[in-house]
Amino acid sequence: MTTTAPRPAPRLFGDHFLLALDGGERALIERLRALCRDTIGPQAAAVAKQDVFAWDTFRTLAREGIVATAFPKAYGGTDARQALRIRVIEELGRVCSTAASIITGTDLSSRAIVAGASEDLKRELVPKLCSGELQAAFALTEPSAGSDVRGLQTRIRRTDDGYVVDGRKKFITRATTADWFAVVGRAEDDPSTFIAVLVHRDAPGLTVSPEVGKLGWFGVPISSLRFEGIAVPASHRLGAEGEGFSLAQDALLRARIGHAAMALGRAIGAVEIAATYATDRETFGQPLGRHQGVQWMFAEMVTQIEAARALLALTADKYDRGDADVAIFASMAKLQATDLCMKVVTDALQLTGGRGYLQDFPLERFFRDAKLNQIGEGASEVHKTVIGRDVVRRASAAERNPCLRAGSLVDY
Ligand SMILES: Cc1cc2nc3c(=O)[nH]c(=O)nc-3n(C[C@H](O)[C@H](O)[C@H](O)COP(=O)(O)OP(=O)(O)OC[C@H]3O[C@@H](n4cnc5c(N)ncnc54)[C@H](O)[C@@H]3O)c2cc1C
Repeated sequence: MTTTAPRPAPRLFGDHFLLALDGGERALIERLRALCRDTIGPQAAAVAKQDVFAWDTFRTLAREGIVATAFPKAYGGTDARQALRIRVIEELGRVCSTAASIITGTDLSSRAIVAGASEDLKRELVPKLCSGELQAAFALTEPSAGSDVRGLQTRIRRTDDGYVVDGRKKFITRATTADWFAVVGRAEDDPSTFIAVLVHRDAPGLTVSPEVGKLGWFGVPISSLRFEGIAVPASHRLGAEGEGFSLAQDALLRARIGHAAMALGRAIGAVEIAATYATDRETFGQPLGRHQGVQWMFAEMVTQIEAARALLALTADKYDRGDADVAIFASMAKLQATDLCMKVVTDALQLTGGRGYLQDFPLERFFRDAKLNQIGEGASEVHKTVIGRDVVRRASAAERNPCLRAGSLVDY
């Protein structure tokens, strides 16, 4: 007699967004859900106990083909649409920020290689990046260039057979485990030209600092880098000279979509946890969840999360179609999802009272992890600036609202 595993109970947040996926994509999500239920979720607290690279989680995600979703089929990947990637990252973010950030970090660290490396280099590196045999890191931020990334000071000098790199990078994820670093700097003889190159971790002149302690996002440590006269062969340039900045923007675009998905996954997880508590806990003679004030908090959380998921799904569709305005939508989705996640996690922790504040309770970890989504890949304020500037730029050429009289509004 064969026994079948019991079907999991329906989720608090329904599966409506899975309707946009095809059968194969849905099967991958089902496999991932089982993995999250059996392995990644139960292990998340232990993984996030100390800030050392989460090799077991990384190897599991590589073995299960989740890392490969970031890469093209021609090099061993699966060519996953963003419509699927946001669901993958949301599933992981619901239980484990470390696992989710390993996947968004794969986009950030490897995209410039996929988009800009020579065919030979791609054939050599990308299949191993897919399988987890190799890791890359993305080295853009510098001590004096964070939000204002055009302030980069790393110098890249042309030589007869390649380049020499000098400079410093800060906050680089996976710096202690990466085999290769995608580095963006300026041409020494023409600072307006941005160049991206690939530097091997054993290159003479490269110093990786010890891992730097941080508030959350344990399992994906960061370090600083120093480049002193590092020789790079011309074959290791990414893209053409002058394309360094656009390669960085291309990587950041995918990573921003990933940050939004991770934040929404975490927000969903936080509501699930708080709602379970509101069922289990009684205050003033009735279950916590029966109090109207608590119900209103849940109502706001759920409504805003579903709205942000819809914005992110639209953004993913725009990416998959190649729409010209996808970058602005990615800024809106990241701004909306990450600020919302911080609020939802704070409110969910409030609803779980003293227990929410305990290290043993998952919301303490969710709370610490939520903050970085508002800072990395462009802080919320920077995205507001980008979005607002775009509105003002387009306004003068946009169709006038038909309620208005002709002429300048100043004449009203
Ligand atoms: C855990 C972690 C991992 C990271 N991983 C990587 C990585 O792998 N590779 C990489 O290259 N970088 C990485 N970073 C760097 C990250 O992208 C930067 O921290 C981020 O872009 C912000 O830059 P900054 O920290 O220098 O902040 P600053 O530029 O000093 O800005 C500080 C704050 O000022 C505000 N602000 C800035 N500009 C404006 C403005 N115009 N208007 C209004 N407010 C503004 C924002 O609130 C911002 O948070 C990582 C950072 C962290 C903390």
